[in-house]
Amino acid sequence: MLVIFHPDATSAEIDAVTERILATGAGAQRVIGAEQTVIGVIDADRDHITSLELDADPGVDRVVPVSSPYKLAHKHRHGDQAHAVDVAGVAFGGPDAAFRLILGPCAVESADQTLTAARACADAGADLLRGGAFKPRTSPYAFQGLGLEGLKILADARAETGLPIVTELTDLRDVETVVQYADCIQIGARNMQHFPLLTEIGRAGLPVLLKRGMGASIDDFLLAAEYILTEGNQSVILCERGIHAKATPARSCLDLAAVTVLKEHTHLPVIVDPSHAAGRRALVEPLALAAAACGADGLIVECHPDPRNARCDGPQAITLDALPGFVARVRAVAGVATGALA
Ligand code: PEP
Ligand code: MN
Repeated sequence: MLVIFHPDATSAEIDAVTERILATGAGAQRVIGAEQTVIGVIDADRDHITSLELDADPGVDRVVPVSSPYKLAHKHRHGDQAHAVDVAGVAFGGPDAAFRLILGPCAVESADQTLTAARACADAGADLLRGGAFKPRTSPYAFQGLGLEGLKILADARAETGLPIVTELTDLRDVETVVQYADCIQIGARNMQHFPLLTEIGRAGLPVLLKRGMGASIDDFLLAAEYILTEGNQSVILCERGIHAKATPARSCLDLAAVTVLKEHTHLPVIVDPSHAAGRRALVEPLALAAAACGADGLIVECHPDPRNARCDGPQAITLDALPGFVARVRAVAGVATGALA
């Protein structure tokens, strides 16, 4: 942290601030410039120094944090390089991983619906299969998912197609059950800051797909990832899925700048969910192409054999017939982006 003084700060004021810093046990390295003096606070307990409110002390102009609040998610952790995360043999992110596609229905509704979708996803070249057995619904009256039965259907779909499974965990009480079936655990936007859940899945050890909360800043998002990483689980994939913005004509406002900014700050893979940002089918492919163009490591996209009768998120599901063309176009754009952004 740097404490920057006003040009007219007196040496008594600078000494007084230095004393307060030293009293916390931190070091204080003074740099006297032509116009202003700066103190570098060394080995500080960040929260303790922040609580001193040094910017209100006489003579202080401002206090500037230097080190990142997220230590393990920070790119420095891996020599300023992106670092791949492995999900059942499928690499996400890192310097060489292919562009990845996670496809599947929003919710597991029946064996027939899920297996039909899974076969089409596999045929279209999906890398992973998605499907929610536990659904975080805004309304308590809406379909909440099939629970354990849904997990078993997903396991059958994996057995038949060979596609590893990504499925959402919403409740601490279901950790053990979901871990038995999933290859990657999704933590949804609504639970991004459910800290006990993050800690628990950090301990569970399976790769995690962490979605950005609708109102979360980049720091909020990376600190949520940090909760998982600090438990020793380094396999976290970040997912931008749109943020609340009243002015957007879509369901959420897809924040594609976040993809680039996240990749500047973290070594973790960053994928995009165009489906929940779009809210309606016609917007899904344009957003997916844009995400591929701006350097995302992959996409998670909802599809359904019969969207008009889906029990959850039908209007944004792409049809199974549309999958092959969609996948080909998205992969083509991702291929161009890999060369252009390298
Ligand atoms: C989902 O993936 O079906 C979902 C509920 O996503 P989100 O948490 O991003 O809303
Ligand atoms: Mn959904």
